[in-house]
Amino acid sequence: MNDAEILAAFHIRRAHYDTYLEANDIRLYTCPGCGFPSLTTRGEFSICIICFWEDDGQDDNADSILSQLLAEGIKISGPNGNLTLTENRINIGYILETNAELINGEIDFDPARVLKTIAFYKQRRDEIEDRMTGDEPPYDHIWIEWKEVRKDLQMALVVPKS
Ligand SMILES: [Zn+2]
Repeated sequence: MNDAEILAAFHIRRAHYDTYLEANDIRLYTCPGCGFPSLTTRGEFSICIICFWEDDGQDDNADSILSQLLAEGIKISGPNGNLTLTENRINIGYILETNAELINGEIDFDPARVLKTIAFYKQRRDEIEDRMTGDEPPYDHIWIEWKEVRKDLQMALVVPKS
């Protein structure tokens, strides 16, 4: 897959989950960074558990303005640094495609199952956070455990080919 195909897959995935959330009246939002239904708010700086995009409210319209400014050489700093939304989508897309190749599978497209998977790993992360005091140094084992939740979730989002 090339960048254009990764981005096309992102838009298909996001539209698919947006449709499902709306049709089932589920109060979640799709992440502008990865397209999965991982956010409980929009524009409130929550960090996506799947792709780690920090939701500063940017979305496709804002992203085009940002890309334009970057193209003009104007540096923007925000919670995601110089990483653009498009770059984030490409990065997470490649990670998921690579994971899918590892098991000769595909990125999960089943909304009910994906929602369960995300909820399961969110709970796992919450349990780790509950055990944290806030004083742990970055090399503490608990941080490694915390970071592994994202990797495990990225792996759980690929499934055998249907
Ligand atoms: Zn995301």
